[in-house]
Amino acid sequence: MSNLTFTMIKPDAVQDGHIGAILAKINEAGFRIKAMKMTKLSAEKAGQFYEVHKERPFYGELCAFMSSGHIVAAILEKENAVADFRTLIGATNPANAEEGTIRKMFARSLGENAIHGSDSDQNALIEGSFFFSALEQF
Ligand code: UDP
Ligand code: MG
Repeated sequence: MSNLTFTMIKPDAVQDGHIGAILAKINEAGFRIKAMKMTKLSAEKAGQFYEVHKERPFYGELCAFMSSGHIVAAILEKENAVADFRTLIGATNPANAEEGTIRKMFARSLGENAIHGSDSDQNALIEGSFFFSALEQF
């Protein structure tokens, strides 16, 4: 099992001023930051990142949202990183997320749901290398 996951603080949470609070929760949960940057995705880059969802009805809206403002991308390290991070962020729809999860606390809606977390070890590596070169990972 790999010990890495990849996350993005999404444009809604950046705009709403939640970067600091979200990073504090990530630190408190025991994740080490291996790489981090604030950046902005073009619509094209957002489309590439979410390519697995391109047949889904929400794909266009998702790409428009994810390219609408700044994001904070990071690679995180912890034992059981993928599963533990999904637990920390909560369900995709914040209405269904557990109390105390990042999405419950900070998300606006199902689409604008504050944070991304990889769904597998393999995707964590693919997504991390989408944003960070080997020289940018510590
Ligand atoms: N999404 C949406 N409508 C949906 C399902 C998902 O807008 O019905 C968005 C939401 O921002 C979600 C992203 O698409 O985080 C990716 O969907 P996925 O099913 O992979 O959810 P996640 O892994 O982020 O929980
Ligand atoms: Mg997903």
